[in-house]
Amino acid sequence: MAGDREAASPHGNTPLVGPGEVVLEPGEPIWKELVGMVADGRRILLVLHIRPDGDSVGCSLAVARCLRGIGSQAVVVAPDPIPANLRFLDPDQECVPPDRLSGSFDLALFFDCADLERIGDARPLLRGIPRIINIDHHPSNRRYGDVNYVAPRAGACGELALALIDALGCALDARSATALYAALATDTGSFRYENTTAVTLSMAARLRQAGADVALIGREVWESRSLGSLRLIRRAIETLGVDAGGELAWMALTAEDLAEAACGPADTEGLVDYPRSLRGVEVAALFVADSPGEVRVSLRSQGRVDVSALAGAFAGGGHARAAGCTVAGELADVRARVLAAARLALGSTAHSTVEVARTR
Ligand code: 5GP
Ligand code: MN
Repeated sequence: MAGDREAASPHGNTPLVGPGEVVLEPGEPIWKELVGMVADGRRILLVLHIRPDGDSVGCSLAVARCLRGIGSQAVVVAPDPIPANLRFLDPDQECVPPDRLSGSFDLALFFDCADLERIGDARPLLRGIPRIINIDHHPSNRRYGDVNYVAPRAGACGELALALIDALGCALDARSATALYAALATDTGSFRYENTTAVTLSMAARLRQAGADVALIGREVWESRSLGSLRLIRRAIETLGVDAGGELAWMALTAEDLAEAACGPADTEGLVDYPRSLRGVEVAALFVADSPGEVRVSLRSQGRVDVSALAGAFAGGGHARAAGCTVAGELADVRARVLAAARLALGSTAHSTVEVARTR
């Protein structure tokens, strides 16, 4: 729907950003510059972040498809495999690993990627690329691009991707609409979290009208579990611990837990929603010790605590209500350190872990 002025503005009259941020409205010169750069790019590389989620995959596939429609060559590079529940978005398997890429690019385009640490093995590819455009909604974004369009108020990067598609005058087909709807739905917890704005919902309506297959998205993203991943949920719930007078809940999985359930790290996606769903919990944590000597930590908040600051204390980042980090050390030690920091952030003096189930 090129030329739709209303839709070309991702946020209407709502300010795009929080305190201390530069306001980047679509009418701002930097937005025009960005659109001009993208429109001029003949060969464009779209870069997914590691452990890609629906927002990353959805934005890049949709924008790549639209760019091809206006004569650019667009290639999507995936430093990590696409998780099984998102593969339906890429039926032609056009997301390629970094070592399968050849040729040069005029431009690298990033969506949903807060910093260059988050592109893993794709990083060396950037050396020969003259321009980087960074489009994101993480407040912690490091502004690594030549042009940075960072709008933390956007519930999902999918909103910014749709604005870009509109501004470029690209047509939106059912497949791109499905990819962008998946981006919005996954980043907003199926339109349940407070990052779901009126803009998010009106964009979702528009995407549905453009042919987004919402039933397919629902089935593939949330209802296509393997037996192993259900077993992993059972195992994870066995480890549930509650702390800080009921305001802090956590679960922890080891490499053995994953192996026993025949699961990979991607199967832990969404598990942090179980401790988070407990009534009274303010901060939820999931610890996954899947590689030796380090622990992946996912953090969620109901609002009182800024978990991106908590993750930041362990060299991670993210959003105020959803953040993560990877911490060197053994599971028990990392767990104790992160829980101590979480207790402090909660202002809790209660330090007795209630063993709801068998904890380790
Ligand atoms: P998840 O817990 O689902 O892995 O990540 C939640 C949010 O935190 C995502 O928005 C992601 O961008 C961010 N995040 C997760 N891990 C890291 C990390 O190690 N560094 C940074 N900067 N952000 C992270
Ligand atoms: Mn996102």
